Amino acid sequence: EWAGMDLSVRRGNDHDPSWFAGLNGLADEYDMIIVGAGISGCVFAERGSKELGLKSLIIDKRDHIGGNCYDFINKHGFRVSQYGVHLFHTKFDRVWEYVNRFSDWIPYEHRVKGKVKDIRDEYQIVPIPPSQETVNKLFDANVHTEEEMEAWLDARRSVNPDPKNGEESALTRSGPELYEAIFKHYTHKQWDKWPEELDASVLARIPVRTNRDDRYFSDQHQALPKDGYTRIFENMIMSDPNITVRLNVDFFEQRAALPKCGLTVFTGPIDAYYASQGLPKLEYRSLRFFEEYHEPDASDKSPHPGFYQPCLQLNYPGPEVDFTRIVEYKHKPNQPAEAKQSKGTVIFKEYSCDVGEPYYPVPNPANRELYERYQALAKDEPGVCFVGRLASYKYFNMDQAFLNALECWDEVKAGGKVAART
Ligand code: UDP
Repeated sequence: EWAGMDLSVRRGNDHDPSWFAGLNGLADEYDMIIVGAGISGCVFAERGSKELGLKSLIIDKRDHIGGNCYDFINKHGFRVSQYGVHLFHTKFDRVWEYVNRFSDWIPYEHRVKGKVKDIRDEYQIVPIPPSQETVNKLFDANVHTEEEMEAWLDARRSVNPDPKNGEESALTRSGPELYEAIFKHYTHKQWDKWPEELDASVLARIPVRTNRDDRYFSDQHQALPKDGYTRIFENMIMSDPNITVRLNVDFFEQRAALPKCGLTVFTGPIDAYYASQGLPKLEYRSLRFFEEYHEPDASDKSPHPGFYQPCLQLNYPGPEVDFTRIVEYKHKPNQPAEAKQSKGTVIFKEYSCDVGEPYYPVPNPANRELYERYQALAKDEPGVCFVGRLASYKYFNMDQAFLNALECWDEVKAGGKVAART
């Protein structure tokens, strides 16, 4: 049954009622009107205010800030993410330093497991990205050193210095068995395309490890915000008198009624901005989450008492189920204390679909070419700057979205597109 999430029971984010006042009571003029209260929009408002004293109006069609990073405390007391699990990691010191201004962070290294059938057709729980343990458990390999793992892979992987698509990229790194077990069907479920129809970069996000490192990411900085992601955005924009936020405001419906401004910062899908130009729409993948609450009874013989599964994220790379992964937020150490002690647990089965909120740009040559036609329009758009994952049609991680927004802001500032108030 589709349970969805009940927004009315969210707690923990003390929303300012003026955020919901439509377009009433606004100033006559702003330096920037920012469409979208996600990472890019909040960076522009925050930097504009701090560096140049700029006044910004942020509008968002949703009823919350934080974009797809939005999390909240649900009716069972767990901090959950409305748009799928988010894990912050970065190698960029500039981004790490920046996000530390708005939150305390708890060190946290994400470890993903996969529930995968072995050569006897029995399920095994194995590390993803695949590593020594993965091939030992799935294929009865007997590798215990990096050299043995290299040799195991060398006997299988194809030599291809320039893989042209996701399939070639995965076969070059992993060989056919791992490709079939870990990459091929997961990718098809996620994108409704086979790996050969996607850019090499998509599957190259997941390495094949020869050592015993079972972390999902290898970046230097990996952490969870102590009070959740939403709190970061609140701290960026909420107590700043230069920044006004209006939620439930759809830019395309209300643009004629918006106050005047020198610069519009558009962070939505670029093809939505140019919908009247007659170009084909860009392709996006969306997600659906099916929520289940589990409360074990006294006879619970689970190997993980109080939990549904062994880890925060359990992938199901095989074709036998049509969801991609199950996320159990109770494993996240930034849960409120009551949630950690709760008898129950809440899980989300994640399905990928082509309708709904745009989550992922679909990286392949056809979409890239189409995006370039939109980009050409955007280049000549006076008084508008396009920033972020949806406006740039790029598969940014959170830290890349922060870095991209900070760098776009630098450019806007250096290019004199905004004039300092102070
Ligand atoms: N992938 C896979 N098997 C997995 C995990 C990932 O084949 O168990 C591939 C798949 O194509 C996926 C891509 O790697 O779309 C990127 O995965 P990631 O976990 O980075 O995606 P996200 O967290 O952004 O949804």
